[in-house]
Formats: sequence, structure tokens, C-alpha cells
Amino acid sequence: MTTTPVHLETVLHWIDGAPAASSGAETAEIPDPATGRAVRAVALGGTDIVDRAVASARAAAGAWAATPSPARATILLAFRALLVEHGEELASIITAEQGKTLADARGEVARSIEAVEVAASAVQQLKGEYAEQVSRGVDTYSFRQPLGVCAGITPFNFPVMVPVSMFAAAIACGNAFVLKPSERVPSASVRLAEFLAQAGLPGGVFNVVHGGVDAVHALIDHPDVAAISFVGSTPVAREIYRRSAAAGKKVQALGGANNHLVVMPDADLDAAADALVSAAYGAAGQRCMAITVAVAVGDVADQLVAKTAQRAEAFRTGPGDAEGSDMGPLISKAAVERVRGALDAAEGQGGRVVVDGRAAEAPGSGYFIGPSLVDHVTTDSKLYRDEIFGPVLSVVRVDDLDEALRVVNASPYGNGASIFTASGAASRHFAHHVRAGSVGINVPIPVPISWFGFGGWGDSRFGDDGLNYDAYRFYTRGKVVTQRWTEPRRGVRPNFVAAGSQ
Ligand code: NAD
Repeated sequence: MTTTPVHLETVLHWIDGAPAASSGAETAEIPDPATGRAVRAVALGGTDIVDRAVASARAAAGAWAATPSPARATILLAFRALLVEHGEELASIITAEQGKTLADARGEVARSIEAVEVAASAVQQLKGEYAEQVSRGVDTYSFRQPLGVCAGITPFNFPVMVPVSMFAAAIACGNAFVLKPSERVPSASVRLAEFLAQAGLPGGVFNVVHGGVDAVHALIDHPDVAAISFVGSTPVAREIYRRSAAAGKKVQALGGANNHLVVMPDADLDAAADALVSAAYGAAGQRCMAITVAVAVGDVADQLVAKTAQRAEAFRTGPGDAEGSDMGPLISKAAVERVRGALDAAEGQGGRVVVDGRAAEAPGSGYFIGPSLVDHVTTDSKLYRDEIFGPVLSVVRVDDLDEALRVVNASPYGNGASIFTASGAASRHFAHHVRAGSVGINVPIPVPISWFGFGGWGDSRFGDDGLNYDAYRFYTRGKVVTQRWTEPRRGVRPNFVAAGSQ
């Protein structure tokens, strides 16, 4: 934390439909990960700014909830059109602060647009059920209503997609929203807020506060915030879940991951190696659904390692906006040190570093490290157990599918898992028995389209409902109405009786 040098533009909060400054002067510098140089600064808010944002959201929530859902959808569709029109600009903002390649950033924008499309159909998601004549002249129906003010706390690795997947659903359901994006990638959120305002969203329905732990705690502890959505690392997710639940809030807290891809002896090994390299090193491994472990079954390992190594060596590391880069830098110098440390430890614990990202030439002074492939990794090693969140793929060798499943299912995380095989029976067995929220069959990163729910098992998610399609349940609460409009009167009946005799 520092006082901003005068030459750096400061990213402001967004409250009541307009930019807002904090009363204090506390800011953090935001480096471009490709150069390590500060490109702008961000205001760091605490309780004061959170109070202002929540008050604005609370004031707007009632009228927004009363706005007919098709009218809310019209605004979301206008927002979608702005995302399409400004997709390239958003991708550039993502790349400048997060570091991923422009092609990958464009993919993130495309998935965000998809989430808005689902949100625009929220009339469907909010529909209830109706049971006629549950007693004489009595019908029962159910529907869902918004919660009021919801808050989202998001990670650095998807500066657009994760926030959009939260707030598009929350707003579509009739809630007001306060977003606390990662302080490392703050600019995209403010641009999204501008697009929402341009699309016709009333002031106060969507607010952005920047900050760190203080802002997060202020949001969780605020009595006017009804629900907390969190996406980030597992230790923080666990703590957010505890604190929110203790405050009596609805909470969903998605955490970290270590995702496995099982390669069966009958798999197309070239397709599997392509998938491993894309899923392990794409976005420099900074995806919660990155594949971090290849589980090589039977005699497939030597060939698989050779094919994967060949591709990893050809994978080009460079600035995200440079032509030909397959992956960009990591988010920080500390992240590079963490990856280096994990590789050093792996060597000491029996791992064989086949492709060594530490040796890759780093372009300039950015936070670069090349792709690494480590064979013969054991499940008790640090490299295997920790979430490294960098471009490192471990290979674990097993004898058969049952052993592969035992390895995958012993992981405390359960975000995603994939299998590559030519066997329908093996893939069905895997899909049925694997402990993970998203499963891939001959697909490297099984992130479902937004029309399905998304969220892991185990330490990858605390709380019940996930994101995307599941979020419509999270951002609403149910009400069940039992009604009678018919005569005759039945008189006073003091006893609790079976429905049919009422
Ligand atoms: P992080 O946990 O460090 O930070 C996430 C958010 O929490 C940020 O907004 C940050 O300001 C805030 N925060 C950080 N420490 C906090 C604390 N002690 N108390 C309260 N708030 C705190 O995560 P990150 O490094 O920004 O993101 C990477 C992590 O997110 C990885 O672990 C990745 O697997 C995970 N992730 C998970 C999913 C998923 O769907 N499960 C999706 C994307 C990222």
C-alpha cells in the first residue's frame, strides 16, 4: 500500500451510477504483469465506502425488485449488446492487468456474454410451480423472490467472467449488487458498471467497491447485505463461508482446485497430449479449472509424457498482447517464486522435471516462467498437494482405472476431472464414481455452458448453490402460497388435519 504517485491514474469505486472516491488516500499500485511496471493505481476502500455502496444498493433495491422481470431483461440485453460492441476493449483491459493472452481474454468475454444471455431469460428461472385442487377448492403455488442487497467478492484470474456470472444473475432476479473485485485487476469492473449504466440500469442497482480484507469484512458484517458470493482460494473461501454463516447470511464460497485428467491406454494420445498442454498451460495455469495432474493409466505414461513434453517445449511464453504468445506472465513476482519453489521441492521428492519452465528465457522484467512438466510425481509431494496456480503439469502413474479413481477422489478438491478414453463403459464408470462437480469425457476443461450450474465438491466449494444456472436459486428465496377462493365456509376446525379433509 502506498500513496499514489501523481502520474498514475487511480481506478475509482462506482456508487449510485457514478464514479466515487474514498475519503482516505490509501491506494495500491497495479503493475502490468508483462513488464512489472505500475500502470495505474486503485483506491482501497474500507467500512466508509462499503457503507455508502450498501446504502445506495439498499435504496435502489425496492424499485428494482418491483420492476417487471421482462423489463429487467431488456436492460440486460442492452448490456449484452455493449459487451459485444466493446468486446475487444474489454479483452485488452483483461490482458493489461491480468496478463493472459488476448485470445484467451476474448474467450472470457464470450463466456460472460453467454452468462448475460441466460440472465436475460430469468423469467424462466424464476417460474414457480402450481398444484391445483390440493384440497377442496384449494390450490398451492410457489415462486421465488429477490433477497435485497447481494455482494460478490471475486478473484484476479477472471476479471470479467466471474463478476458477470454473479451480478448478471443477481440483478436479473431483482436484487441490487455490490461487487468487490480483486484489487489486482480492478479496471474491468468499473467499465462493466459504465456499460450497465449506459444500458439503462438505475443508479444504485450495481455498485463497485475496491479494497482488500477490510472491504470484504465490512460487506460480510453489514446488516443490510443479505447474501455473499465469493470466488477465490480455498483458505479464504473457507473463512468467508464461516464468517458469513455466523452472520446469518446466505453464502456461496467457491475455492481452489487441483484438477486431474485421466488418460486410459485406449485413448487417442495425440488428442490427450493436446488437451493436457492447452488445459495445463493455457492462461499460464491460472484457471480454477486448469488441469494440474495427468493420471497416466497402464503402459501409456512414457508415450504420453513424450508427446506432452514435445508440445510443452513448443508452447510460447510472452506478453499477452504479443502476436504468437500461447501464454502470458503470472499475476505477480510472488506467484513466480511460488512456482519455482514448488518445482524445487518436487525434485527433492522424487519428481523428474522433464520440461523445466525455470530455464525459459523471461522476456523483459515481467512475471514470466515457462511451462513445466514433472513426471513420477507422488501424491504425498508438495507439488501434488498444493494448488500451485501456475504452468506446471504433474504426471502420476497408476495401474488401472480404479487406482486412477482412488487418486482423483483422495484429493481434497473436487472442482473438475476429465478422462480421455475410447471406451463408453470406462467413461460412464468414471463419470458415475468421480468426486467432482464438473466432469469431462474427452474434453480437457469441462466448464459447462451457463445453462448448467457450476461449482466444485469438497474444498472447492463451501455452501450449496453454485454459479451460473444454480445462481438463480441462490439469489432468490422461495415462497409457497396455499389459497382458497371458493365457498362454502367450513366453520372453525381447531385440529390439524390431513390436507384432503380440510
Ligand atoms: P484470493 O483468495 O487471494 O482472493 C480472492 C478475493 O478475496 C479477492 O477479491 C481478494 O481481495 C479477497 N481476499 C483475499 N484474501 C482475503 C482474506 N484473507 N479475507 C477476505 N478477503 C480476502 O484468490 P485470487 O488469488 O485472487 O484468485 C485465485 C484463486 O481463486 C485460486 O485459488 C483459484 O483456484 C480460485 N478460483 C476458483 C474458482 C472456482 O470457480 N472455484 C474460479 C476462479 C478462481
